[in-house]
Amino acid sequence: MKIIRSIKSMQSFSRQMAAKGKTTAVVPTMGYLHEGHVSLVSRAQKEADVVVTTIFVNPAQFAPSEDLARYPRDEKRDIRLIEAALGKASKNAAIFIPKAEDMYPADFETWVIVEKLTSVLEGARRPTHFRGVTTVVAKLFNIVRPDVAVFGQKDFQQAMVLGRMTRDLGYPIKFIVAPTVREEDGLAKSSRNAYFDEQGRWEAVALYYALQTAREMVKAGISAAGPITREMQAVIRATSPTAEIDYIAFNDAKTLENRTEVSKGTICSLAVRIRGVRLIDNLKLK
Ligand code: AMP
Repeated sequence: MKIIRSIKSMQSFSRQMAAKGKTTAVVPTMGYLHEGHVSLVSRAQKEADVVVTTIFVNPAQFAPSEDLARYPRDEKRDIRLIEAALGKASKNAAIFIPKAEDMYPADFETWVIVEKLTSVLEGARRPTHFRGVTTVVAKLFNIVRPDVAVFGQKDFQQAMVLGRMTRDLGYPIKFIVAPTVREEDGLAKSSRNAYFDEQGRWEAVALYYALQTAREMVKAGISAAGPITREMQAVIRATSPTAEIDYIAFNDAKTLENRTEVSKGTICSLAVRIRGVRLIDNLKLK
């Protein structure tokens, strides 16, 4: 597997692959990989001849108050995990690990912004987050020139925003959103789970319990968002007494319009701070 650190070398790798008639799938990540990331890499392998995983802790998507400096990193382990996931196919694969100063030179001033889809949920709480995400992914698309890109449902708003960007800017890329991979108890796998001590890790399942509660209520015929939200709040408090709920929201999965009644295509998403660690999760309810 090729480990590529410069933008020029990545561009030349992509050109070589295209000249050989090989298709490429890209999996953008911030590293500290887990089985969720690995599932995207395996999906990418099914979709194209060459898999390029990118590892870049993107400073532009962190606010000054957020966890950029302490975001977990382990490049060697990441490389081993990707190699193991790809098996023989790792011969044709690459990992692109650009440097922040190359991606964002000192006089960098060009941003890609998706306007409406980023005005709610995570975008409303983290005002500069999505322009960081869209800008870095646009750059990665331009450098890697993939035929396919794979993202995770875990960050469903991010996937929607990037899907819209891909369409709006006319990237000739097949855009795939792969399902959320969970721990045995239901907690969505996340690099940030590494922040938890044992107690925090137990309590972190609160988000999943709350989403399951919502699903059960909908199955039982309750569709008003109000009572479902209250029950979810109670479940979170019972599982993690010190949890701070940032939001519990019900939206149309295609437009992100707010929903006060659960109907076909309604997705429930939530952000909760458990012992200082902010987690997000979501589930389609109908
Ligand atoms: P990150 O490294 O957290 O920026 O995530 C990189 C990609 O992996 C994004 O497309 C995420 O949505 C996806 N991802 C993160 N966690 C999971 C998970 N538990 N299951 C599936 N995909 C995930």
